[in-house]
This record gives sequence, structure tokens and C-alpha cells, in this order.
Amino acid sequence: MSGNEAIARGAYEAGVGVACGYPGTPSTEIIERMKTFDGVYVEWSPNEKVAFEVALGAAIAGVRALVAMKHVGLNVAADPLFTAAYTGVNAGLVIVSADDPGMHSSQNEQDNRHYAKFAKIPMLEPSDSQEAKDFIGLALDISERFDTPVMLRTTTRVSHSSGIVLLGPPRARLRLAYKKAPPKYVMVPGNARLRRMEVEARQRAVAEFAESFSQNVIEWNGARVGIVASGVAYQYAREILGKNASYLKIAMTHPIPGGMVREFASRVERLYVVEELDPFLEEQIRAMGLTVTGKACLPATGELTPEIVRRALTEEGVLPGSMERAAESAEERAAEGAREGLREGAREGAGEGAGEGEAGNAPERAADRIALAPPAVSDEASMVESGETSEVVSVPARPPVMCPGCPHRGAFYVLKKMKTIATGDIGCYTLGASPPLSALDTTICMGASIGNAIGFSAAASVAGEPQAQATAGLTESGGLEPDGIRALASGHAPRKPVAVIGDSTFVHSGVTGLIDAVYNQAQIVVLIMDNGTTAMTGHQDHPATGVTARGSRTHKLSLEALSRACGVDLVAVIDPYDLASMERALRQAMDAPGPAVVIARRPCVLLPGAKPRRRYRVARERCNACRVCLGLGCPSIELCDGRPVIIEGSCVGCGVCAQICAHDAITLREAGEDRE
Ligand code: SF4
Ligand code: SF4
Repeated sequence: MSGNEAIARGAYEAGVGVACGYPGTPSTEIIERMKTFDGVYVEWSPNEKVAFEVALGAAIAGVRALVAMKHVGLNVAADPLFTAAYTGVNAGLVIVSADDPGMHSSQNEQDNRHYAKFAKIPMLEPSDSQEAKDFIGLALDISERFDTPVMLRTTTRVSHSSGIVLLGPPRARLRLAYKKAPPKYVMVPGNARLRRMEVEARQRAVAEFAESFSQNVIEWNGARVGIVASGVAYQYAREILGKNASYLKIAMTHPIPGGMVREFASRVERLYVVEELDPFLEEQIRAMGLTVTGKACLPATGELTPEIVRRALTEEGVLPGSMERAAESAEERAAEGAREGLREGAREGAGEGAGEGEAGNAPERAADRIALAPPAVSDEASMVESGETSEVVSVPARPPVMCPGCPHRGAFYVLKKMKTIATGDIGCYTLGASPPLSALDTTICMGASIGNAIGFSAAASVAGEPQAQATAGLTESGGLEPDGIRALASGHAPRKPVAVIGDSTFVHSGVTGLIDAVYNQAQIVVLIMDNGTTAMTGHQDHPATGVTARGSRTHKLSLEALSRACGVDLVAVIDPYDLASMERALRQAMDAPGPAVVIARRPCVLLPGAKPRRRYRVARERCNACRVCLGLGCPSIELCDGRPVIIEGSCVGCGVCAQICAHDAITLREAGEDRE
């Protein structure tokens, strides 16, 4: 079995229910093989970013997921990757990055191990086909145990080499309960700051786990030479040196098991790192204050081969038969060691380094400092500068809210009323996640709402045994019960997920998600909240406004024509101020087979000429103080003596509140009418 085939088999055995990817050598065969297994939702996505978002959506929905891509593909998927590290997962999520040292079929040569470190997620590196299969299951277990995506990094030689693989029985596909949790899955700044702390805490926990991880192993063959290696480089070193060296084979290369490395280094006379491409392990070992040789004798470019490793280790005098050279160079090394000692001493003197004992603690202390740093914005107080002194004044917490008359408000009110799963995106409409609307389930990155919704839809399409702790009947809290998720699969469920996205964001990176939804016939509704601008950043234009950055007229991209061109049959355009039309359109979209698009079109209320310029009032004699109108979260509605009043100065007259008052107590204010 090739490494890629083994990865697919491992995913199948581990109960993966959703597998996505974009073809790219050397990763392509993973999805090719996944599609041969029954009961797994498999898709080619339009690009790696969408594939990642679909897989993440499925994992959040409670189904184990895999997303596969070549190394440069992870550049395309980096946006959701970095935020997925914050949200964590629900069911396990494994990202396969198939790197291509030597650029057999690639435009560049990048070492994607840096991505795992950069995104702060665990990474496993198999060294042969058997490990490729086994590590997938381990990666998914780690993913669920530590609530994190896990990266499985392969290289061409592991992906495409074949080896004998012992197969196991496929385990039952599990479905974990999904429970709506905006603080975890909606990454607005206030939530993300808290999740940032979780990421650091998780890093420390995984680093501790790495020390006892069964696949990080020492093979002891004596104290003369110690080799630290991972992936196929371990196989090369083992093949060349055999029992002439001891090995620390690292399977989890992020975070590395620092204690094991120290222990191993302390027991060998000479320490080497054999690794392809960048000095990823070498730098970390050096950062521990240990002396190690790596790229000083091995190339940092191109693919390693046994021959290259043999030459390098012969040059170093490590191989038997090269002992004479070793003896000759012993004196040189001693001299270099002395020079290195002097350099280290100088660094310590300059405060740039630390002794070995201290070095291991230093990164942890730095991490602690990051974790303990307060958020940049305090909810409780702000500093007021006055002359040379400053004074702390208390101000009430002011959570961000949608403006009075914001056209998004009514849409979110309807979504909440319909109790649908609603995946969100980046823009003003993220505010729909805040109480009292609390309408959003996820917000990951620009354009991710559609991929996430497809992931929920995909999770619904695969059979699975509900996990013991799965709870049915989560409808009140917005959770997804197993029956509900099965109903999603029918395409006629009242709870088809809705992807909420703005016009500018849809053009930015949402359209590829819509193409995917049509291509794979996802049972979703895409709600494009078209307010005719990029509102949150200050009303910049974009291709669908028909105006350039310099203000001149240009071709205006039609969102409805674009949606139809993508293959969507049902495209409805409605006014979001009209709640009945909104609800009707959403229900029709949910009843339609396959994906449907609803465009809620109304200019941002802050654009010139967009305000309706009417005012509403509450007729006290008719109001029974039920407070339903407060559920809109309009800042123009306040409580006064236990009853709502509408602030005349800020109400713009959208009329949405009047539509939800069952007692007709909210009416248009006549000109010159007094305040309540
Ligand atoms: S919804 Fe109508 S009746 Fe209920 S509090 Fe608001 S104004 Fe009064
Ligand atoms: S009409 Fe009602 S919902 Fe609209 S801005 Fe005025 S108070 Fe707010």
C-alpha cells in the first residue's frame, strides 16, 4: 500500500465520516482512495480553503473529518487553519499536508512543519506506510482529547512509497453531540482573546503528552552516536547506520518531547539531527542549549536520499570505516567545541542565552507571560490621559451592537425564530452572534460561512452511531440533535443550515464556497446580506457596488447573476426590513432541493440617503410590557419604568420593531408629537 492509500485506509478504520481535498501531488491519492469506502462523505472542493472549512464544519457538527492537500495548498487554507486552532474541534479533525522536497511536481519547496508550530497545533510525521495508516487514528484521538486540529505531515517519499500494511477492522463511525457554543466557535475579538489563552494552555498540555507518547521512541545501540530523526529521514539514517547509532525517533514533531531529547542527548557522545529541508528539529534542540549537528553536514534543499545521508555521515566520521577520518577530525571538533563554548559564554554574558538548565524553562515563562497578558481593551475601565498624570475611570461595558435600523437585524431575528444552524462570516453581521439575537453558530474567517454550512450538511449525510453522551432534543439551545442532522440530509428539513455572508465577503472568498455547494449539492441556504458596501471597515467599495476605489463608475457585479451562474436554481431577493418576506424566502429556500440563495438587499443605514427618516414610538396604552421588542437588540429601544420606550433621536424608522409587536403598540410617530 502506498502511504497515501494507507492514510485513506487509516481514516476509514478510524471512523472518519467526511473527507475533503483539492488534488495536488503528492497528496491526490488520499481522496481518490477515500471515495472507494462506503458511508463516507467525500468531496473534491474548489480549493484547499473551502475543503478545510467543510471538514472543520463537519468536525464541529460532531463527525470525524480529514482534509488533504499538498504543501502549497496549505497556504491557501492557512486562513481557516489558524482560527481553527483557536476554536478547536468537536469530533477529530486531521489535516494532511503532503510536502514535496525536491519539487518533483511543485513550484516551490516549503517545509510545512513550520505551519504546525506557527498555528500552534500538534503534528505527527509517519515514516512509512504502516505508520501513515496508524497515525491517522492517533491524530484523531489526539485531536479529540486536546480539542484541536492535528496536522499529519508527509513527504513525497512517504506518500508514494509502498510497504506492507497490517489492516484493522473499521470502527463504527461516531457522532458526537453538537451543542451551540458561540464563545468557542464564533471568533469575534472578545471570544478569540479567551480562546488565545486556551491555545497556550493546550500547547503546554500537548507538550507534556508528547513525553509519554508511545510513538516517540528511543532505540538504544550504544553511546557513541545519537541520531534524532523523523519521517522518512529516520528510515534513511536507520538504513545507513543500523546498530552503529542510537536513535530518537520523533513521531510528534510539534511539540517535540523536550525531556526525551535532553535525556537522549545526555547519553550520547555526539548528537545529530537527520531531517529533510529546514533545520526544524535542529533549531528547537539548539534552543534547548544542546550541541547538535544537522545542516552543517546535510543539505537544507532538496530531497534526502540514503546516499546523501551516507555521504554526510561518512564525512562526519560517523559510519564504520570512516573511523580514521573521525580520529583525524576529533581534534578539529575539540577545537570547535572550545570555540562554541566561548561563543555561548559570550552570549550568556550579553544576556542572550541561558545555561542548559534554564533554557528549558525560558520558553514556558515567555508563554506564561503571553497567557497572563490582559486583553488590550478592558471591559471595566479605560485610562483617560490628563496632562502628565492619568486617571482610571469606570465606564459601563459596551458590547458592540448593530446600529439602529441596521438591515441585518431583522434577518437575524428571523433566523433565531426559525432555530436554524447559522454559520457566520467576517463583517458587521458577526454582531448577530451577540445577545439578544444570538443567531450564529460559527465564525472562522472570511468566506468560511459557506464551507462550514456544507460541513454541517455533509455531517448530516453520513450515517453514524450517536455517541453515548450525545443528547437528543437540543433544539431550544440551538444544538443539533441526531434526528435534526438526519433531517438536514433530506433537503426538506426546516433546519437546513444557513450560511450568512455579506456582499463584500461573498466576493472576497464566499463564491468558491457557493460553487462547492452546487457542485456537491449541499443542503444549505446561503443568505447574502447585501448592504451595498464593505461596511465594517468604513464603507469601502467592491466589485458588486460598481464603483472603484477612486470613486469612478465601473462594471457592477450582479450577485444574483453570479449565483445563478454558479448553478443555483433558487435565487430570491428580498428586503430585510420586511420580516414576513424574509421568513417566507428562507422557508422556500429550505424546501428547495440542493443549495439556494437568498439575497437580503438594503443599503447600510449609515450610507448617505439610506435612512428611512421616520420615527416610531411605543403607545403606552397598548403596550403590555411583554418585552418582545427588546429581543431585537436595537439600541434605540430602552426600558423606562419597566416599559420599553423608543429614543426619538436615534430611531431611524426601519419599522422592524413594529412588525414583531403582537399588540400593535409600536406605531409611527406623528410630526411634532411629544416624547413618551
Ligand atoms: S413588543 Fe410591543 S407590547 Fe411587547 S413590550 Fe414591546 S412594545 Fe410593548
Ligand atoms: S424602528 Fe424600531 S427597530 Fe427600527 S431603529 Fe427605530 S426603534 Fe430600532
